[in-house]
This record gives sequence, C-alpha cells and structure tokens, in this order.
Amino acid sequence: MSSLLITHIGTLAGLHPKETLLLKGKEMASLPQLQNAWILCKDGLIEDFGTMDQLPEQLPNELESVSAKGGFVLPSWCDSHSHIVFAAPREEEFVMKIAGKSYEEIAAAGGGILNSAGKLQKATEEELFETAALRLNDMIKQGTGALEVKSGYGLSLESELKMLRVIRRLKESFPIPIKASFLAAHAFPLAYKNDHAGYISLIIDEMLPQIAAEGLADYMDAFCEQGFFSVEETDQLLSAAAKYGLRPKIHANQLSVSGGVQIGVKHQAVSVDHLEATDEAAIAALADGQTIATLLPSCSFYLGIPFANARALIQSNVPVALATDYNPGSTPSGNMNFVVSLGCIKLKMLPEEAINACTLNGAAAMQLSEQTGSIAKGKRANLLITRPMSSLAYLPYSFGQSQIETIILNGKVQ
Ligand SMILES: [Zn+2]
Repeated sequence: MSSLLITHIGTLAGLHPKETLLLKGKEMASLPQLQNAWILCKDGLIEDFGTMDQLPEQLPNELESVSAKGGFVLPSWCDSHSHIVFAAPREEEFVMKIAGKSYEEIAAAGGGILNSAGKLQKATEEELFETAALRLNDMIKQGTGALEVKSGYGLSLESELKMLRVIRRLKESFPIPIKASFLAAHAFPLAYKNDHAGYISLIIDEMLPQIAAEGLADYMDAFCEQGFFSVEETDQLLSAAAKYGLRPKIHANQLSVSGGVQIGVKHQAVSVDHLEATDEAAIAALADGQTIATLLPSCSFYLGIPFANARALIQSNVPVALATDYNPGSTPSGNMNFVVSLGCIKLKMLPEEAINACTLNGAAAMQLSEQTGSIAKGKRANLLITRPMSSLAYLPYSFGQSQIETIILNGKVQ
C-alpha cells in the first residue's frame, strides 16, 4: 500500500495518547495540539507525526505528499447514532409541523415511525441500500469517518432482517467502520397496539435468535419512552439481548423523564442517547460511570424541543458524545459540522469539548476508540483537513458551513 505525507499543517489537533479511550469531566476541554506539523500515514494507519522543522529524512517509497496549506488536521467525525436506512423522506410531516402539529399529533395521524415502517416494508433491499449509500456518501463528504446505523423501521422479522442486511452491505461497501444496532423496539406495530407482550415476545423469541445467528447486530437498542416502551419492557428486552452478547445503546428521556437512563446503566449500556428531559436522578445514575451520554442537538433543533443539559453532565463527570440522529422524522440531516456548532451554541460546550464529543467519545460510543477518534500512532488514518482558520473556535462559529477541504480515509485522499 502507498503512503501519504501531509505537510504544512497549521494545527494538528486531537493528539490524545493512544491509551486514552474516553474523556470525562474536565478532560473533555483538553484537545492536545501541535503547531506547524506534518503527519505520515502508512498502510491505512497513522505512522508518525511531528513539527515541520523535524521532517523525517527517511520517507517510504511510493509516497504521496499533500500540503495542508496551513489548515487544521483533525480526526474524522465519529457519528454514533443514526437511522440512515429508510425508504422515503417525510417532508409532508415537516409541513404539518410548520402548521403547528406536535410530534405526538403527527404520530397519531399515521405519521411518525409507523409511516416510515409502512414504506420500508414495501421497499426492496436494493432500493434501501442505494438510498442509504447516497446519504452515507454525503456524510463522508461532510467529514464522517465512523458511523452507527440502527434498524427499527422494519418492525417485523422479515423487514428488520432486511434493514440489518442493508447495514451489513454498507459495512462491506464503505471504507469506514460501521456498527449496527437492532431497534425493533422503536414503536409498537399497529397489529400489536393492544398486545405489547406479543410484540416483545416476537422480538425476544423470533427476531433476536435469528439476528444473533446471522451476526447482524452489534448492539441492542430500544425507545424507552412514554407511549413507546416502558422501563419494564425495556428491562426485559435488554436482558434477552444480553444472552446473545448484545450490549445496549438505547433511546432514553427524549420526550419525558422515562427512567430509561437508569435501566440503561443497570444493563451496562455503552451509551444512553437523547437525554433532552433529564432530571437529577438520571444524571446521578450516570455520574462517574462508563456509560456515555450521547446528545443529539440537531434533533432538538429540528423538533423545537429542549436541548440536553450537557454542562450538568460534564460537571458530574459523565462522558458526553454528540451525534446526528440522522432520520427522516426528527433529524433529516447527517451533518456533523452542524452538530459541533450546535454543541457549542445550544449546549454551551467549549469548541474543544464539542470536538472531543464528536471524535474520541463518539468513537467510544461505538467501542471504536482503540482504532479511531484521535490522532495517535497506529490508529486508523481517518482525517480531515480544513481551510486555514484563525483558531479552532472558527469551526463551530461558522455554523452551517463546512471548513473541510480534504477528507482522508485509511490514509487515502478521497
Ligand atoms: Zn434515534
């Protein structure tokens, strides 16, 4: 394989030591940097880096050289929460929302998750793959270099398997690490509206064994929320998934204080996601722990619901990650640059905190922080080169615009 040398880097940022896999509390404000730097990538990995006055004399053969022209080099964004496999966008609901209808009212009128489920059931695996691939290509162009994707618009054995097979195909077809979460517990299908126990047993007795047998999921997810899955039902589902070695990454406390955070912590969830409606008890359950609070500010932005209390979480020594939640209903955007900006503007995170939350902690929320999310020797060379910027803060400050000039994946310019 060829090698890549990036020279004239104004600031090389995100140089956490390789053994640092997760950041909490005050550590989140630290984003180690090197000025006037170079970085060498070999065989897809970061080989070495240093300052321009100490460029290595011995360089590998077949070397491609790129100048960063004074720009910043950062690790690629790690987006640990998305629903990019879906059959159709939902602009009609967008217009209903403008006209004043609430998320719950739209769901009651046949919109919401069940709308996406109906369309997904009719779509072929090929159609779903092609549209998800287009979305993923756009995300990669915007700097995403690792991604988690959920099922959850299938809501039947056949359709959930179809979604997970599409995610497997994305894993095989794209040059970035991708993790799959099984989210049949996203909503109760109409046929089970009055038979919750029936749907839970369909998930536990029929879906989980087959998904485990085919190795189609890395994580178990559930939408623990009023009107969706109760704490008891979530508990039952997470216990069943644990028997197949699937750890939870769950949706909790989006619309109300649901108790989902505590049930996630009880089951050693890798992350509990959303947390817009978090009380002191939920923060106390996460304090000083390993379960990551993954906040999704573009969802709050789009729905007009409260933003999560990132400051209280950071103060309580909770590791915080940020992700897009890209989905057709509540966040039709996969742009991590905008998430970094919202982290600063709406969650009052410092630029360094927001960037760490979108890189190393995002990677940790997919158990990928040993291989990506920071710049360290031996890690995967998934990097972003920005335009020259007056400071790191310019990146989130210039919201709605991307400062990214060049994308490097596995040591190759894209
Ligand atoms: Zn979600």
